[in-house]
Amino acid sequence: MQNKHDETPIFVTRSFMPPYDEYIEAIKPLWESCRITNLGKYHKELESELKKYLETDELSLLVNGHMALELFIQAMNFPEGSEVITTPYTFISTTHAIIRNHLTPVFCDVRLDDGTMDAEKIECLITEKTVAIIPVHVYGYVCQVNKISQIAAKYHLKVIYDAAHAFGVKYCGKGIATYGDGVIFSFHATKIYHTIEGGAAAFHDHELYKKLYNLKNFGIQGEEIVTDIGANAKMNEFSAIMGLCNLKYIEKEIYRRKQIDAEYREKLNRVKGIRLFKEQSEVQSNYAYFPIIVEEDYKDTRDELYTRMKSQNIHVRKYFYPITCEQICYNGKYKNVDVENAKYLSRHILTLPMYGELQERDIERICEILKN
Ligand SMILES: *Cc1c(COP(=O)(O)O)cnc(C)c1O
Repeated sequence: MQNKHDETPIFVTRSFMPPYDEYIEAIKPLWESCRITNLGKYHKELESELKKYLETDELSLLVNGHMALELFIQAMNFPEGSEVITTPYTFISTTHAIIRNHLTPVFCDVRLDDGTMDAEKIECLITEKTVAIIPVHVYGYVCQVNKISQIAAKYHLKVIYDAAHAFGVKYCGKGIATYGDGVIFSFHATKIYHTIEGGAAAFHDHELYKKLYNLKNFGIQGEEIVTDIGANAKMNEFSAIMGLCNLKYIEKEIYRRKQIDAEYREKLNRVKGIRLFKEQSEVQSNYAYFPIIVEEDYKDTRDELYTRMKSQNIHVRKYFYPITCEQICYNGKYKNVDVENAKYLSRHILTLPMYGELQERDIERICEILKN
């Protein structure tokens, strides 16, 4: 018998909402200035606050994480047709951003331990055409940043991290934005920290700030001068204010998720066939996601479990399945790449609901289904 509570759907995430009055109060000045976009006061203010929070020298706000990555790659001016070593175990955006820049993705396998790019497998993929490495701090798990830096230095490659999942993560006591030539964040409503829609690129080189400023505003340099083939990727003021409001609560949100993470781990630790990614040493996590691996010795297949959970109104997700190089938009072009671990994970992964407002009884309900 299902009780009423069991019928309430639980989704994989839920957008954080700041206190209503705070946001309403904060947007009031927009009715006086009537300046609601085009790189205004709050855009500037949020850039400055995020620079501090993320411990980065430079930061450019963009309309979303995808455009942050796409325009950052464009700003690097790589020759057309250059190769970029990247991971297929990610959201489609990472791969799209490379290909939309007329570059060729070369897919590197990931580690079964945490889903991040396997640094040991990078060097054999490097050719004369390689210009960059674009790994992903998937689920907020930190890539092998030191090894990747060493390889990049040896072959004079740029490293751009897709850190869409890693807002607030620290490694060896330093913000995640300090590792790499460029680090891209997503502030989409479903991410741990959001500006409704939004994103940012963090980096060290001030020249790139000017370049991105230009690229996100059509490449317009002056009233009558367009110097670059840019896009429209500016963050508007309502979003920037949402970001300023939400930034006040991010530490609380991370703390709450940390408790949920601990509860999940305690309840699922010894369930036969369910593997959890281990917590990483030297990493201060943001607990953005809770992935589980449904191994072969679990009583159901991953897909059976997914369906069983769905039938009980628990909407988990297969992040990330299929791997990006197998998506139909790429027309089978990358079919034979040697990314066995990525394929394995994508066939066995489920991400469980994770958000600050997730209740103890919800966690109970989710874990009971997994155990039964
Ligand atoms: C969400 C996400 C993006 C894209 O960010 P948007 O803000 O949605 O454009 C890119 N990469 C990864 C890994 C993501 O999860």
